[in-house]
Amino acid sequence: MLIGIAALIVIGVLLYTVFVREEDLPTPEPVNPFQYLNETKARVYGNLRDLQFEFRLGKLSEDDYARTKKDLQGELAKVLSDTDQLKQKLGVQVANVSPAAKNPLRAKSAAACSHCGAKFKENLKFCGQCGKPMEAA
Ligand SMILES: [Zn+2]
Repeated sequence: MLIGIAALIVIGVLLYTVFVREEDLPTPEPVNPFQYLNETKARVYGNLRDLQFEFRLGKLSEDDYARTKKDLQGELAKVLSDTDQLKQKLGVQVANVSPAAKNPLRAKSAAACSHCGAKFKENLKFCGQCGKPMEAA
């Protein structure tokens, strides 16, 4: 019974996250799928920095430090693997729909980010490096 209720809550939260929150976003720009991951990554890095700082100040015991650091590193690993998966997914999608992808020469020139200059093997909708939208050349 409790598990059933918990499952309903989880499903509700997921539906809310997927359908409601995107509509609530104030920006009319397309949602950048890397933005959330980049923000999470930045937050985890920030937490790791804070953690080290507090540990050096002697505010944390070595056990607390090690445990929290491990948690944060696990979170970081998940974000990085999610980012990789998303990159792969978007790369495949773009390759299927983009005419540029059928022409290797054009695809090559289109796969460089005009914002940060990062280069990718495939056309991406969003730069995997800086997360900004990438335009086909
Ligand atoms: Zn970029």
